[in-house]
Amino acid sequence: MDEMHKPPGKPAITQISHDTDFLNAEWLASLSHELRNPLATIKGYTTLLMRHHGQLSSEEQYELLQSIASGSEQLSYVINMLQEIAEFEANLVPFRPHPIDASMLVHDVVMEMQRDDQPRAIADRAIQITVSELANEPEKRLILADQGLLRRLLFHLIENAHKFSPDPSPIQITITYFLPAPSNPLPEHLHADKEVLQQPLLELRIQDSGIGIPEEDLERIFERFQRVNLTLIREVNGLGLGLTLCKYIVALHHGLIWAESTLGANSTFHVLLPRHSQY
Ligand code: ADP
Repeated sequence: MDEMHKPPGKPAITQISHDTDFLNAEWLASLSHELRNPLATIKGYTTLLMRHHGQLSSEEQYELLQSIASGSEQLSYVINMLQEIAEFEANLVPFRPHPIDASMLVHDVVMEMQRDDQPRAIADRAIQITVSELANEPEKRLILADQGLLRRLLFHLIENAHKFSPDPSPIQITITYFLPAPSNPLPEHLHADKEVLQQPLLELRIQDSGIGIPEEDLERIFERFQRVNLTLIREVNGLGLGLTLCKYIVALHHGLIWAESTLGANSTFHVLLPRHSQY
């Protein structure tokens, strides 16, 4: 879509390259793995149910149906993710900002991720939320944000923190003001976007004590289909699209996102979002 035909008032997603090198063998292999595994579960268990339903107890039938349901969930996750990325890149995603209390939103998302009907691992994970003194009054935590999109962003960053760190270690989420200062520098690759710092900003930090990210990959992980640390994460599901989606969501909000990490020790994802200008 060219500049003239963008929907009014909607910021363009910056720096999208429409190259085709993402269709490399490694990525196609992970895509087929992500599609084939749930499909095999669905096909295998459906066949079993059809052949043996007379001999299976109702509990056994229920267990098979549960596996079929979770395979279908996984398939639709992959397909939805591909579709969402395509929609962002075509500037087709509606952006509806409203003043939102960032702390309430974070608490709400965490509560939803820890509901009883979620997979046990994430439901049992310790997630600690800290609101800094600077942002401890409700009106000071207001951001101008699209609730649905920000929920997607938080879900994904928390899910990654969970996927890439060992279970007993807690995930820390901090909500604070971002005060530009020499002691608080932006990573070099974001210097071109420094004008974002001209407005009052709220910062969300999602921190884990996990496998970490090599320094040379900290920028690349936000590009499409990039997965790093492959020897360590071979068994972990993923397509390398979630952080691209996060980057697009933050760009729509005129914010910034970056990661910092110590390999083998921890990763922190920083998200800066404009505060609601009245406060
Ligand atoms: P994926 O679906 O593979 O998780 P993402 O775009 O969310 O895709 O992440 C891209 C890659 O960045 C991951 O495959 C992983 O290598 C790395 N990564 C993301 N979050 C973390 C984290 N919290 N700790 C360590 N590595 C991470």
